[in-house]
Amino acid sequence: MERELIYMDNSATTAVYPEVLEEMLPYFNEEYGNASTLYRLGVNAKKALNKAREQVATLINADPSEITFTSGGTESDNFAIKGIALKEYKNRTEENPRNHIITSSIEHPAVLETCRFLEKYGYEVTYLPVDETGIISLEDLENAIKDSTILISIMHSNNEIGTIQPTKEIGRIAHEHGILFHSDAVQSVGKIPVDVVDQNIDILSLSGHKINGPKGIGAIYIKKGVQIETFIHGGGQEDGVRSGTENIPGIVGLGKAAQIAYENLDEHAKHDQEIRDALIEGVTSQIKDSYVNGSIEHRLPNNVHFRFSGIEGESLILKLDDEKIDGATGSACSTHDLKGSHVLAALGIKPALSHGSLRLSIGQENNIEDVDYIVKSIKKVVDYLREISPLWDNKNDEYIGDRFEKPLDDEDLDRY
Ligand SMILES: *Cc1c(COP(=O)(O)O)cnc(C)c1O
Repeated sequence: MERELIYMDNSATTAVYPEVLEEMLPYFNEEYGNASTLYRLGVNAKKALNKAREQVATLINADPSEITFTSGGTESDNFAIKGIALKEYKNRTEENPRNHIITSSIEHPAVLETCRFLEKYGYEVTYLPVDETGIISLEDLENAIKDSTILISIMHSNNEIGTIQPTKEIGRIAHEHGILFHSDAVQSVGKIPVDVVDQNIDILSLSGHKINGPKGIGAIYIKKGVQIETFIHGGGQEDGVRSGTENIPGIVGLGKAAQIAYENLDEHAKHDQEIRDALIEGVTSQIKDSYVNGSIEHRLPNNVHFRFSGIEGESLILKLDDEKIDGATGSACSTHDLKGSHVLAALGIKPALSHGSLRLSIGQENNIEDVDYIVKSIKKVVDYLREISPLWDNKNDEYIGDRFEKPLDDEDLDRY
């Protein structure tokens, strides 16, 4: 019998849960109303919209009025950062340009590229470094704050290496200085407790397709009282915060996915973590020169990120695909970019080594019974790739890439 695909790229995207799809389906045809209209169809759409808003709010301990639906995590990140930058544009004075943003060097491109964009328009951005496990220093954060700082945007957890930031302390520091705190929590929601009140978060981004909801839908949480400029203008939907006829099927799907995530948070995390820890144990004990990138302690339960010296990630992914295992390599979001991952570079990992990395991100359909097969397959593929690699000495069974390696140059480090 042919083996079924083992999908372990749930940080890239997830399958829509059957219950989520079922909930969405009527809103494509029977209940196709526009939520802004007054007859029954429209009222039904409005009711569905409100229910989903409550489900999303509950997941992050917000009030439903603080949730606005967007087209996904990317739009929410853009909204948060550009929205605050534009709002503060009006508050500039001769003495205080109110144009400084603090973020980290390992953010998702949706944050980094938005910051880069704003730099072209006179905003100043500090990209905080991280330690070798991917965590920012609170002291660095304090030191980076200036009178002109308007926003601190630090991700809740990292999409590549799964490192969880000390969000609560970051928020506390932001608030001590009267600065707003935005967190990209796309990878955290549904995986670990995300509580906007307890964790001092003013603005938060989340996305549907990372939590077994549909693609092209997300939400932004904006704390009551936070002034932000809208950047999608039109018919005034979503309380005027984000115009455009609401994507009701998508919103209903996101709501249902949020409800499932909320009700099963502990159980899902336990399931994922068991598989994660078995993979770490199996791989690091059976494969020579294999390492785990990121933090072991402050890590998402569903993320494991390995590094194997002497091999190249793209070949690893393709060979694993032959074994019916889908994972990701160091450059998950930029397969067009031959440079190593900006996240691994920020951890101080040299490009040649970061290329030999493998992210496995776990979902509910993965089974602990498959771990043995997965570890064996990875070992088989790594052994094969090392055998044909010029960076591996087969006679002595060791990595010799250091002989060819040039140190990280400024260009590598300055990418973000
Ligand atoms: C996937 C992801 C995004 C982008 O979300 P989309 O809904 O795909 O636009 C943003 N930030 C992080 C951390 C992500 O993992």
